[in-house]
Amino acid sequence: MAFKPYKIKVVEPIKLLSRAEREERLKEAGYNVFRLRAEDIYIDLLTDSGTGAMSQAQWGALMVGDESYAGARSFYRLERAVKEIFGFKYFMPTHQGRAAEHILFSTLVKPGDIVPNNMHFDTTRANVLAAGGQPVDLVIEDAYDLTTEHPFKGNMNVSALETLIKEHGHEHVPLIMLTITNNSGGGQPVSLQNIRAVSELARAHKIPFFLDACRFAENCFFIKEREPGYAQKQPIEIAREIFSLADGMTFSAKKDAIANIGGLLAMNDEDLYWRCVQKLILFEGFPTYGGLAGRDLEAIAVGLYEALDEDYLRDRIGQTRSLGEHLKAERIPIVEPIGGHAVYIDALRFLPHIPQREFPAQALVIELYREGGVRAVEIGSTMFARRDERTGQEIYPKLELVRLAIPRRVYTQEHFDHVVETLKKIQERRDAIRGVKLIFGEGPLRHFIARFAPL
Ligand SMILES: *Cc1c(COP(=O)(O)O)cnc(C)c1O
Repeated sequence: MAFKPYKIKVVEPIKLLSRAEREERLKEAGYNVFRLRAEDIYIDLLTDSGTGAMSQAQWGALMVGDESYAGARSFYRLERAVKEIFGFKYFMPTHQGRAAEHILFSTLVKPGDIVPNNMHFDTTRANVLAAGGQPVDLVIEDAYDLTTEHPFKGNMNVSALETLIKEHGHEHVPLIMLTITNNSGGGQPVSLQNIRAVSELARAHKIPFFLDACRFAENCFFIKEREPGYAQKQPIEIAREIFSLADGMTFSAKKDAIANIGGLLAMNDEDLYWRCVQKLILFEGFPTYGGLAGRDLEAIAVGLYEALDEDYLRDRIGQTRSLGEHLKAERIPIVEPIGGHAVYIDALRFLPHIPQREFPAQALVIELYREGGVRAVEIGSTMFARRDERTGQEIYPKLELVRLAIPRRVYTQEHFDHVVETLKKIQERRDAIRGVKLIFGEGPLRHFIARFAPL
């Protein structure tokens, strides 16, 4: 039996609407689950972002939040945690990870610049584009093979990165990013060996190296579990080694700080820090609160340590793994190996009769709500299909996934059993499932607002 490192003290009621009600809600929402009301959802696996259950220590810390505009005690408590875990010389709180991205990219990226990443997250990609840059994904080829076992499928293809730098010239590559774990590619980890190789290449070309560190603690757990030489190390020691190799990071506290809101931007370069501070003050707030309340800073400071607790990480990654294993046992095609924060269903294999232009992953997301009141998220053509400006042709992504993201410390085994049962029922009638047509929404963030019609 798995060891459960917490028990429940506060409960939030949920309910399961009737099938007819769910059908009605879907229609009202234009078949986009982002447009559903949370109260109409039974099990919400839309995201693990900001949806975790805070601990009693975090709730207690809220009470001592210092709401002073400048120089709040809460800022200095957060600073201590950031220094101790990440070690960067300068940092600023932001209201979310994307705010950190906006400030960083709008400061560093010029129109025409190239920004390489193992794989850009959606807001990261959109923020690079908004700054006039071109986001390039250079994850290893294995990442696109959804069935092979590879311990670090999030790794960067370092030789492709080197070629890209040589082709475009280092002056057109304002920074190199590496996303740990690789959210858009299945929550797959990056090895320390790979992080070190990217770091060395970046240093050789004098290009700043930034980590998109949203799920750094989970990445540390995978390194401990899978990379030779790290089994005896504590997650916090692995974290320190990772961050010592980078020049800065963007971070969403809604992920591995188990807070409901917040983000961080950190760097070692003093000149860059001051340029970013100008933007922080303009868009977010004074540097000691960055758009957050003092109590938010407290929750983050406590949560960063809790996320690195080994018992917590084993339970968290264990929940994800257990859901994945159960689905696999039912022959539901999932991405393997199972990642840290979510299980991804391969919609191209689950619904092979639906072509990409009819959004197979979106169709499966709709069925999950229709069948069981479960909310998941599409990571496929709604999110990533693009029209080629010259040919006018639609370019479809290689992956067509449905993500079941696991909120931290929120659901129990019974909830996950329901998710498995729901997918079994969908599987039984999958040949009859039809695709959808996009009737509203454009641009790189259209998935949040899009509306569909059944075909
Ligand atoms: C969530 C996330 C972001 C953006 O953070 P927000 O707090 O949602 O703005 C960026 N990159 C990755 C990898 C993420 O998982």
